[in-house]
Amino acid sequence: MTTQTETLTRMVNVILLGPPGAGKGTQAELLVKNHGLVQLSTGDMLRQAKASGSELGKRVAEVMERGELVTDDIVIGLIKEKLSNTEAKGFIFDGFPRTLAQADALAALLKETGVTLSAAIELQVDDKILVERILNRAEQARAAGQPVRADDNAETLTQRLAAYHAQTAPLIEYYKSKGALKSVDAMGEIDAIATELNAIVSQTPA
Ligand code: ADP
Repeated sequence: MTTQTETLTRMVNVILLGPPGAGKGTQAELLVKNHGLVQLSTGDMLRQAKASGSELGKRVAEVMERGELVTDDIVIGLIKEKLSNTEAKGFIFDGFPRTLAQADALAALLKETGVTLSAAIELQVDDKILVERILNRAEQARAAGQPVRADDNAETLTQRLAAYHAQTAPLIEYYKSKGALKSVDAMGEIDAIATELNAIVSQTPA
């Protein structure tokens, strides 16, 4: 059951890896609900910074709208701040790390705070479907009178996918070589994918 809350007796820390539109955010929210983990989405943090009109927000807005990655230092700084939440039962890293340098920085941060990575979960989806999913998401938001993400358009999406393949996809090998990679077919129904993720989270070693 995906709606059941399982009481985790140990800390679980997972990375959700996958291209834009793979469903990382959707699945992260379900993991928060089902396991009480804390979601750390660098995309959300950067959008909040942009909305707040802060200096950081101004610096990252254009980069995000071009579909490129913001600098490693910025996102590593954001994550570092959040990891000081020692009350958390565990973290879901959603959209971070996105480069090998970020992955190394995360490993160092986790070591410093004495936290173990439970798994890096790859959500596998074909590029063809991603474009459709994201353009649909934008269309539905527009129809409902909700704000549409500035980077959810065909042009930026091409760049986001290119950035994913060039800079983020190598992390799949990186985590595989550390024995931490779990791959999930993320082309199906949200609930079916959530069930698989729940099983992974429940089975990760302490
Ligand atoms: P997506 O749905 O494309 O995976 P996100 O919400 O995770 O989107 O991120 C949106 C944008 O924010 C990215 O295209 C990038 O510009 C920036 N961003 C988010 N996380 C990172 C990161 N870890 N490193 C660099 N840039 C990032």
